[in-house]
Amino acid sequence: MTSHARHSSAAFYPGSFDPMTNGHVDIVRRALRVFDRVIVAVARNSSKKPMFSMEERRDLVEAIFADEPRVEVAFFETLTVQAALSHGASVILRGLRGVSDFEYEFQLATMNKTLEPRIETLFLMTEKQNFYVSSKLVREVASLGGDVSELVPPLVHRALIERLGPPEDTTA
Ligand code: ADP
Repeated sequence: MTSHARHSSAAFYPGSFDPMTNGHVDIVRRALRVFDRVIVAVARNSSKKPMFSMEERRDLVEAIFADEPRVEVAFFETLTVQAALSHGASVILRGLRGVSDFEYEFQLATMNKTLEPRIETLFLMTEKQNFYVSSKLVREVASLGGDVSELVPPLVHRALIERLGPPEDTTA
């Protein structure tokens, strides 16, 4: 057996993706340089009040990565570690912005390691231009008529305008 012989590697990237931002896209694209496949997994979480339905979020992610067959989109409602295993992934991928993300992510990763020691959580640090980008901020700013075109892919920007109407012209 050569040292190159191995199974295809997959990273399971869980989140709400309500909606997908440039921060998420960057994490997926960079993960594709390390893994053969990236599964973007939209969590079914009834406790959050979403802006986009699960299906809309999935459709947006699929459209954003239409040119990238190595990206799959899935839904999950089980434990993240179980969902990752069921997709053949041994790595959970998460993005980190500042220290504000760290505490919560550390808790999650520790819990997931306790639940399923075969799965590792891997973090990619955000690119500096996405440091302040979050789905929550995008939703809030867009809802108030602010322009978020720099923060999300063009397809998402269009979906936000369809949902909320065009951003207000602040230059007038
Ligand atoms: P959750 O509700 O689980 O936080 P999100 O959809 O907000 O789900 O985020 C999913 C993952 O993407 C998380 O690991 C989060 O830290 C990461 N992420 C979100 N925004 C960014 C960003 N701007 N840069 C890097 N990673 C990000």
